[in-house]
Amino acid sequence: MVEAEHQGSNTVSPDLAAIANQEVAGKLLIDGLERRIAGQLSVIIPVGVIGWIASQTDNRALWIFLGLQILTQLLITVTSQWLRRAIEAGKRTTIRKNLWMMAEASSGIIWAAMMLDVGTLIGGSDAVLTTWVTILVTMVVSVLLAAPIAGIAFPLLGGFSAAGAAGILLFDKDFSSFAQLALIFMSVALFIVAKAVNFQAHKSCRDGIEAERLGHRLAEELRRTSWLSRHDGLTGLLNRSALQESIAELGDMPTALILLDIDHFKQINDSYGHGQGDEVIAAVSTCISNTLDAATPDALAARWGGEEFIIALPDGLADAADIAEKLRSMVAGVTRKDWPARLRVTGSLGVAHGPASAFSTIFKSADRAMYDAKEQGRNRVVCAQDDGGKALRVPRAA
Ligand code: GH3
Ligand code: MG
Ligand code: MG
Repeated sequence: MVEAEHQGSNTVSPDLAAIANQEVAGKLLIDGLERRIAGQLSVIIPVGVIGWIASQTDNRALWIFLGLQILTQLLITVTSQWLRRAIEAGKRTTIRKNLWMMAEASSGIIWAAMMLDVGTLIGGSDAVLTTWVTILVTMVVSVLLAAPIAGIAFPLLGGFSAAGAAGILLFDKDFSSFAQLALIFMSVALFIVAKAVNFQAHKSCRDGIEAERLGHRLAEELRRTSWLSRHDGLTGLLNRSALQESIAELGDMPTALILLDIDHFKQINDSYGHGQGDEVIAAVSTCISNTLDAATPDALAARWGGEEFIIALPDGLADAADIAEKLRSMVAGVTRKDWPARLRVTGSLGVAHGPASAFSTIFKSADRAMYDAKEQGRNRVVCAQDDGGKALRVPRAA
């Protein structure tokens, strides 16, 4: 198979940092929402405690708060699932996120209202404190441990603390100053812990994404450099050393070599410039690849240097001369619409064969044959004599 693949063009990388930030936010939110739903199980504990108090005191307001709290939890489940699906589908999430955060904040406000109600019902600072601590500890489990990383703690705790503080200030509930201080202290501590966990989660998620991205870039770079180490940058053909390596792997397999040198190439450079010269080299290499692809799948084609090419035909002795002639005639037809009208491209070819392990000997013979072709007037194929003195069939020159 002719190796003439060309490198893909380098695409401009978009702003990696911006993508990483978006990905971090999306990943963390989905992770957080999943854990939040699991964490809602812990809501059962305070609901149970308050339900028990309501049943003992037969307080209607507490039953209403309890019902509202259960509805709010359902709302949180629905809005968070909705938000999650939108993030996964890559849709805009502003409205859904705000709705979900409002549901979380409402839940916090209802928790605080419940606690104020419980405070007035059961009275006595120890009982009130115990209930507050139950709720706060539950929140730590439900919110901080379940889903702190997506910022879920903030709306819920925000609602809870704001409503609790407003209630205490407005209604002057019969709390001991110790209970009030404990409440304020715990709310502030929860915020700080939530913030720290949130920050850490963002950092490790971002680091993970960047490491993954770096891995991809390194793999791509490795692929690119290993391609460049075996190929010629201008033509995409194998380079000299890659061809020699491939031929070395053929062992003693009878192999034909064809050397092709573009005729009067210096004149092309001198008359039309090096840029035009490069285009001719690239066009000839494409012509060689296409011709070989159609003629023989096992051929190896390389740019030997400058305007010289080498083609190896493993086990291709019988038709080497014909393939060389085909190459000659195809190269003689190479042109492009935007090239100068007077520009003509031809090549001279030398053919020789022998066991692949005797590469340098075959190469010398092919080189000599190629120079014979130059001497005989260029744009022709000359085949070297083989060891037995039997000439390969010399095709008719153009
Ligand atoms: P001949 O028919 O005898 O082969 O003559 P020629 O002019 O083709 O051969 P010569 O060896 O005199 O000139 C080859 C020229 O190819 C000289 C060199 O500057 C030019 N060349 C080598 N590599 C490149 C390249 O990558 N790009 C361009 N544009 N020119 C190259
Ligand atoms: Mg040359
Ligand atoms: Mg030349």
